[in-house]
Amino acid sequence: MSSTEKHTFQAEIQQLLNIVIHSLYTDKEIFVRELISNAADACEKLRFTQVSGTEIQQPEVAPGISLTSDEAAGTLTFTDTGVGMTHDELVKNLGTIAHSGTKAFLQKLAEDKKPDVGLIGQFGVGFYSAFMAAKRVTVESRSAVAGEPGWKWVSEGTGGYEITPAEGELPRGTKITLELKDEAKEFAQAHTIERIIKRYSSFVPYPIELNGEKVNTVQALWTRSKGSIKDEEYDEFYQFIGHDHEKPLLRLHFTADAPLAIQSLLFVPSHNVETMGMGRMDSEVNLYCKKVLIQAKAKNLFPEWLRFLKGVVDSEDLPLNISRETMQDTALLQKLNKVLTTKFLKFLDETAEKDPELYEKFYTEYQRFLKEGIVTDFTHKEALGKLVRYESSHLEKGKTTSLADYVKRMGSEQKEIYTLMAPNREAAEASPYYEVFRERKFEVLFLYDAWDEFVMEHLREFEGKSLKAAEKADLNLNEPKKDGALDEATGKSLAEWLKTALGDKVADVRVSQRLVDSPAVVVDADKFMTNSMRRMLKAMKKDEEAMAPAKLDLEINPAHPIIVRLEAARQKDAPFATEIAETILDQARVAAGVMEDPRAMLKRMNSLLERVLA
Ligand code: ADP
Ligand code: MG
Repeated sequence: MSSTEKHTFQAEIQQLLNIVIHSLYTDKEIFVRELISNAADACEKLRFTQVSGTEIQQPEVAPGISLTSDEAAGTLTFTDTGVGMTHDELVKNLGTIAHSGTKAFLQKLAEDKKPDVGLIGQFGVGFYSAFMAAKRVTVESRSAVAGEPGWKWVSEGTGGYEITPAEGELPRGTKITLELKDEAKEFAQAHTIERIIKRYSSFVPYPIELNGEKVNTVQALWTRSKGSIKDEEYDEFYQFIGHDHEKPLLRLHFTADAPLAIQSLLFVPSHNVETMGMGRMDSEVNLYCKKVLIQAKAKNLFPEWLRFLKGVVDSEDLPLNISRETMQDTALLQKLNKVLTTKFLKFLDETAEKDPELYEKFYTEYQRFLKEGIVTDFTHKEALGKLVRYESSHLEKGKTTSLADYVKRMGSEQKEIYTLMAPNREAAEASPYYEVFRERKFEVLFLYDAWDEFVMEHLREFEGKSLKAAEKADLNLNEPKKDGALDEATGKSLAEWLKTALGDKVADVRVSQRLVDSPAVVVDADKFMTNSMRRMLKAMKKDEEAMAPAKLDLEINPAHPIIVRLEAARQKDAPFATEIAETILDQARVAAGVMEDPRAMLKRMNSLLERVLA
């Protein structure tokens, strides 16, 4: 019999086709993903039908998917041995909208209270995406239900479709043939299709063959339970998705149900390539919905400062038909971002606890990213504060401490967390600013990375204790040295004289109670400015003129022999004492790293030497 039924598409379909073809998907190639997803759904449904006891045709044929490309004919076919469609199902599923078969199927499942069968594409209008590339689509399908005949459905996407009984015996399942438009002929090339399958459908849980060869060889590891996965499997998976020949340094495999359904497998590569001069990294975390790629290198899934991560995030809460542009700023994505970032930071903290050595390796490679996070992202400040590590005056060189451990060691009389920027350990310990801490046995964190200045400024406090630059600490020695020291009144009058002698070069001069070995120090007169911060700001300014010279306060040590003798010298020979005073200021500036013009200093030094040798 050859009875051709002509059907017109439901009114909305034409509209929908326009949307699908012209604006829903930005990448034409998406249709391959959609048709493969439908085929995988059909395989899943077959399994379910079988399990539910229905007698099926060709039970010996395993569910699977195969594609054939024919460049000469300009066609691409998708064949699956899934559940297939009856005449009525073809009409209903491919001819009417708002009646997605998958949706109806899921509904039925819910009513039957049967377990989830893991279907893809409950949101899709995916089938029609075929018309982005095809001028004519032919669907030959035979339902899995024993005894059902095969049917042929043909449409050119405009107006309607025709259904005829299939010629000959069709095998179980569905074969969809796309006669490609002239401008879409590339989809008849095997290598193009292979690339697209690998990109979107590598993890579809049924075998996919292209022109007789299996394409998807890697499992969607993230959907398996942790306990069943070996280290080697994780490593191999990482190397596949991360395009890295090394093993990952860290991995985090986790699932969550609330507030979002997430299955995620994240990796930290063993090396930070940004420090290797390879330019800025690009996040390589791919976003999936039920094993089907939604977006490779998904933007905004993690904050910028976690751009070194690689891996997979799979959430069934994501709409499959979403396109790249609409994906950018959805509230859903923000929610995902927050959950994932929080989880990852917690994981880092736990790793530091459980395996400090491993954490140290991570920290050595990636500390700059954490610091970038502190400086640029207020949201995770607290969690990030737990992750930074510094050398400390209380630990031997090379060992580092967390802020949390520092706080635990704080004595009751210490109220703040002290930090000292220095080029290295030796410089830190020799710094005049460190003297009072050494004497009072207060712990000081030694900061060697220029970024730490900003890190401290943004962190501000940790566990309720404020972070304070050593040079800004309001601390005195417990027992100031008395022997030979200037008394209070003399010290004060020397300070006053110094202010007059040094003029504009200092903002203020005062007697210090925190110096032990150094004759003097300078402190930035700006309450919120440290010496190193000023140094950095200056380095960042292109125009030297743009920055006003620092206003410095000079603090003198009343017990230091130089200061004691200076007091005597100024009584006898004021011009000479002034030269000495300038040299003391010079040296204090050198110690603080804020000596702007060392040549002026040399001149003064030479004049002094001349005098000494006279
Ligand atoms: P969705 O997949 O979201 O349901 P589609 O437009 O992709 O929407 O597909 C519409 C319906 O057509 C599917 O729900 C399914 O019932 C049916 N269908 C599509 N492709 C196949 C196939 N290969 N085998 C069986 N049924 C299919
Ligand atoms: Mg679909």
